[in-house]
Amino acid sequence: MGEKLSISGHTQTIALIGSPVEHSMSPAMHNASFEKLGLDYAYVVFDVQPENLEAVVKGMKAMGIPGFNVTMPLKTPILPYLDELSDAAKLMGAVNTVVLQDGKLVGHNTDGAGFMRNLKENGVDVIGKKVTISGAGGAGSAIFTQAALDGVKEIDVYNIRDSFYEATERRIAELAAQTGCAVTLHDLADKDDLRASVADSALFINATRVGMPPLENECTLDEDMLHEGLALADTVYNPRTTKLLAMGQAHGNKTVNGLGMLLWQAAIGEKIWTGQEMPVDYIEELFFTE
Ligand code: NAP
Repeated sequence: MGEKLSISGHTQTIALIGSPVEHSMSPAMHNASFEKLGLDYAYVVFDVQPENLEAVVKGMKAMGIPGFNVTMPLKTPILPYLDELSDAAKLMGAVNTVVLQDGKLVGHNTDGAGFMRNLKENGVDVIGKKVTISGAGGAGSAIFTQAALDGVKEIDVYNIRDSFYEATERRIAELAAQTGCAVTLHDLADKDDLRASVADSALFINATRVGMPPLENECTLDEDMLHEGLALADTVYNPRTTKLLAMGQAHGNKTVNGLGMLLWQAAIGEKIWTGQEMPVDYIEELFFTE
């Protein structure tokens, strides 16, 4: 590790707000990165309830806090308190990273960008191609919105027909109109429809809790849906190799686990705040070596 972190009168604070926050990996990752890079920053967490959000955001701005992360349940409620939003944050209707820039609080969403960057790092190119994704929750929405912005040609999104289904369908139609990407919502219960979608896709993404305990023995795809040229990506990173990825590896498909998304969303946020590149390999080795 680099020099031991020491707080002085020059130290700048980066924060995480949300609830719960105490189990977040972000303080460990960012503080280790700041130390390694010799940056005089400290990353701390604050458990913030929605009813205090407006006062907290105004306080951050008044104190000149250069940046902060936002997690559940504040990613959407924070929108009205920010001065500007990136295109991705606007389309997602959710912010996970805020930077104070020329006196204005600018909201970004680095979750989808982190996922897309990790695909690239793993040699998976989906620009101009078709992607199938299960899960239209926080992670899924961030991913398919960024994928549409980045130039993926067609995205079939599968979700349980829940009480949000129609609202999600409208949000996705708006995304298609704004980006030109042919993105549509489908019912996850329709296995034949899913099979047909995967058959001509370059990538299948799991953005649901399927694959993590207590659903570690479950998998959205059947093995006979796999084909040559299909890559598999999971957002789940604990376990690192989900049932989906293990099946893909046994079948010879390219697989990408969820850890890289976690690392790269942090790295992109750190670049927004400090202009510096987080040493991703070092952080992975430090905290995530199995
Ligand atoms: P979320 O907002 O709760 O969304 C979960 C989605 O999965 C929803 O669409 C939900 O449908 C669906 N779902 C729930 N149970 C399901 C089941 N048994 N079968 C099929 N679909 C199911 O959660 P999230 O924050 O998006 O997280 C989703 C996954 O991404 C989690 O595994 C999480 O660990 C992972 N994640 C990873 C990273 C990373 O950096 N790698 C970051 C964020 C999240 P309903 O709407 O009907 O509930």
